[in-house]
Amino acid sequence: MLDQAPVQTQQIGKYQVKVIREKCIGAASCVAIANQVFELDEEKIAKVISQDGNDDETKLLAAQSCPTMAIIVTDTQTGKQVWPIE
Ligand code: SF4
Repeated sequence: MLDQAPVQTQQIGKYQVKVIREKCIGAASCVAIANQVFELDEEKIAKVISQDGNDDETKLLAAQSCPTMAIIVTDTQTGKQVWPIE
């Protein structure tokens, strides 16, 4: 039988991303980088489809690629904003 002892669960999605719709111009670079997290909606504005679709590094890269800094990245463990740097 497999060992059922508690194992270190894999850390998924420590970073939480949020799109500020008013700032998004639909450039879609976030979608190009993290297409399992971001999607353009009918209005060509990015929306978050999953927090777990891509890893933290990819989510951060996607946020940093946004020309209007419309993506806010928060570290859910510390509660601190990771991007844009305040
Ligand atoms: S990169 Fe920024 S401006 Fe472009 S779609 Fe994503 S959130 Fe919107």
